[in-house]
Order: sequence, then structure tokens, then C-alpha cells
Amino acid sequence: MTPKPRILLVEDESGIADTLQYVLATDGFAPVWCSTAAEALRQFASEPPALVVLDVGLPDLNGFELFRRLQALPGCNQVPMLFLTARSDEIDRVVGLELGADDYIAKPFSPRELVARVRTILRRSARPTGAATSTAPTVITSLSTAAAAPIPIWLLDEERHQIRFYGRALELSRYEYGVLRLLVQKPGRVFTRDELLQKVWGDANDSFDRTVDAHIKTLRAKLKAVAPALEPIRTLRGTGYALNEELPAG
Ligand code: CA
Repeated sequence: MTPKPRILLVEDESGIADTLQYVLATDGFAPVWCSTAAEALRQFASEPPALVVLDVGLPDLNGFELFRRLQALPGCNQVPMLFLTARSDEIDRVVGLELGADDYIAKPFSPRELVARVRTILRRSARPTGAATSTAPTVITSLSTAAAAPIPIWLLDEERHQIRFYGRALELSRYEYGVLRLLVQKPGRVFTRDELLQKVWGDANDSFDRTVDAHIKTLRAKLKAVAPALEPIRTLRGTGYALNEELPAG
């Protein structure tokens, strides 16, 4: 059995740290929690982890400074780092300074999202070319309604076959996901039932127009659960369906 990847978690808020340690451990990682930058530097020097999750706001040193100091340690450029940030001006700094961090995630975030990020980064950095550290940070939009930044109306994550509507992850069946993905990718574009059948169901021969309507119906119910007053999917009588482009901003 291969050892569990050690994840150094630098975060001063114990509530967040507890949650993250729990989800990381559940997902097969070995989290090591440090509440200060000094502790993180010590931990890192004694045994470099597989990845560092780094809070920007730390009591003794800010996350950017800690990042620089960690990078100066031997063997550090091999270790991917993921920033946790609470403010949009911090996000600007991560991107603008091109620190070479592998990623960042805005607070408040979903712990599952973070674990998924960690896994993706580790997979990416495991590639033999070793070019992982030069990749530009990926934007992860805040996922909670308490976020300072506006929440996107739709967020399509094709890698995870997931769609978020106003920040809420939808529990979709394979075909519901297929239909909504098409609509979301081309807002306003009208898809006929035949087109949807062909693109989503492929050559499944037991499907027919009513199949599409039935899935639209269940999709609408799921969207309604998130935003009861809105009609995100428009029906064009006799023709098909389209994504409503006039939804209010998140
Ligand atoms: Ca903090």
C-alpha cells in the first residue's frame, strides 16, 4: 500500500481546519494542521508534504510571505501550493503577482471542492514533465451566498460532470446533466427535441420526444428548488428549449 499523501494545512481558524482535516482524511490524504506560519515552516523543513494548503490571513505572517519563504526551502519547487483566500483583492494579488502558486480557492468554499482541487493538482503535478509549477492559477469562484464576490448564475465543471446554479451544486442524472450542459454552454440558443435526443441520448433507440420533456421537467424541479421564482429554461412551443439569458445576477 502506498503511503497517504501528506497535506500541510496552514490555517489559523480551527473550525475551518477541523472540517478540512476531516474531508481530506476521509478522501485518503494525511492532513497535517499548522495554525501559524512558523509551525508550517518547521513542519515543511522536517518533511516536505505532497501539497500545501495555505491561508492568506495568518496571525504571524501573511500567506504570501510564507509562500515565498517556503519556496526558498530546499526541494520546495516540487511541492504544489494552494491558496485559501477570503477577499477579492487577495485573489487579485495571487493572480497579479504570478507567484507560481498552483491554485487558489476563495472563502467561503465547499470542503468537497477543496478536496477535488487538491486531487486535481496532485494528478497534474504527478506528470513526468515536471512542468506543474508554471501553470497559471485557476479561478475558483466562491460557493456560498455569504461570499463577497458575485456568484455566477451557472458554473459548469465538465471534469466533474457538475453544474452549479447560483452556487448550489445540482444533483443531476446523466441525461439531466447532458441536457443542461448543452443549454448552459450556449445561453439563448434554441435546441429542438430531436437535437437534444441526438446530442444527449445518442443512438439510444428507446428514447423519443417525451423523454426530453420528462427530463426537462425534472431539471426544472431541481432548478426551482434553488430559485423558486425563476424560469431558467424557456420552452419554445413546438420547437424546443433554450436557456433563459435574463436571469438576475447572483
Ligand atoms: Ca485566517
